[in-house]
Amino acid sequence: MVTVLVVGGGAAGLVAAWRAASLGHAVTLVEANGRLGVKLRISGGGKCNVTHEGAPRELLKAFAQDQARFLRPALHAFGSAEVVELLRREGVPTQARDNGRIFPLDRPGSAGAVVAAFEGLVERAGVTVRRGLRATGVTGQAPHLQALQVDGEALSADVFILATGGASYPETGTRGEVPGWLASLGIPVQPWFPALSPIPLRSPRPAWEGVPLRAGVLRLSAGKEGRRLAEFAGDLVFTRFGISGPAALELSQATERARRAGAAWLTYATVATLAEAVDAALQAEQQSNPRLLAETWLRRHLPERIVAAVVTEAGATLSPMLKDLTRAGRKLLVAQVTALPLGEPQAVSLARGEVAAGGIALAGVDPHTMALRGWDNLRVCGELLDIDGPVGGYNLQAAFSTGYLAGSI
Ligand SMILES: Cc1cc2nc3c(=O)[nH]c(=O)nc-3n(C[C@H](O)[C@H](O)[C@H](O)COP(=O)(O)OP(=O)(O)OC[C@H]3O[C@@H](n4cnc5c(N)ncnc54)[C@H](O)[C@@H]3O)c2cc1C
Repeated sequence: MVTVLVVGGGAAGLVAAWRAASLGHAVTLVEANGRLGVKLRISGGGKCNVTHEGAPRELLKAFAQDQARFLRPALHAFGSAEVVELLRREGVPTQARDNGRIFPLDRPGSAGAVVAAFEGLVERAGVTVRRGLRATGVTGQAPHLQALQVDGEALSADVFILATGGASYPETGTRGEVPGWLASLGIPVQPWFPALSPIPLRSPRPAWEGVPLRAGVLRLSAGKEGRRLAEFAGDLVFTRFGISGPAALELSQATERARRAGAAWLTYATVATLAEAVDAALQAEQQSNPRLLAETWLRRHLPERIVAAVVTEAGATLSPMLKDLTRAGRKLLVAQVTALPLGEPQAVSLARGEVAAGGIALAGVDPHTMALRGWDNLRVCGELLDIDGPVGGYNLQAAFSTGYLAGSI
């Protein structure tokens, strides 16, 4: 039996503490908040998309290559089937949606039920939980961590597991300070970087707030006339300051990288075919249906509020009927549906991301144990690691899986 100190009572820390205690170790869990699992409780809009359906090799495809390679042992040890089974045993049955996302069965407070399940597991395993206690630093020198500083107290243990999460939503307790401590001990870290965050635009459309664009493709280019950098097929929604929704969240990290590199430009195609093909179809329609209003044609592809704005802004360029359209008018119509300009992004917020990219560099961590290389008693897990999956239950699964291995002492 060894003494284990787990710092952070979120998804990863709860699993790590439960696992280590189940293996017979004396475990203490320290959490800054007055209650456990605060970020878990707001996950999935309070419904908590706990994981994603599929075998480990399927889930791994959702992650960047280096992250997938790192996560392989963890997902094989404690994958989505294991999470679902554990929750079922704890009285929280789940269901997979058509898109593979797994949620607790639909009922109010389902995220709270997930946290309660883990709290129950931790408690029954005999973990000592100390809530409302914020760690402020660590002392030690490779290969041995000596103590964790907590409110002027130095807590020691045979093994330390850091599960302090990322740096987004700091109000949930994740202030992102821990990589700084580890960097000063010579441990390699990647700076935090925004991910899965809404994208503010330089010229937002507050009048379109709440208007969705569906089933199209969000595209990122290196400037207005620049080359295509990335795209994501999915819905988005206009906000007061820019855009949000699945496509915006998924492209937010690439958008911020492009912006910092000097030039970023966003467009949305509600018709994801080539502009030439749309133009050909429009010309055919001019022949077959000459009196059709340009506005009516646009309305087939864009929401009403956007159509009204496009028509007003186009002014004389857009004749009312298709038969009178000039080449410029046709070009304008085609552009609105194949590359609706959203324009230049502004700085994407680290704080509003569902996850933070960056963290402890994966090269410095043993993927089979989550032990820091060169250290004999220090492990890390969860979002604190340089792992950021897409929306869909992948991030919680990565936290559960890495927490499980970290606790397997
Ligand atoms: C709004 C929102 C919705 C999300 N929805 C989903 C979803 O549906 N599905 C999904 O897979 N992922 C979702 N995520 C992401 C997911 O919640 C996180 O990736 C996951 O919670 C990370 O788990 P973790 O245990 O590593 O960190 P956390 O759950 O953040 O836990 C870290 C804990 O450490 C504590 N802590 C930090 N520093 C200290 C310190 N110095 N001393 C003591 N304690 C400390 C914090 O208070 C916190 O409780 C969402 C995130 C957000 C913000």
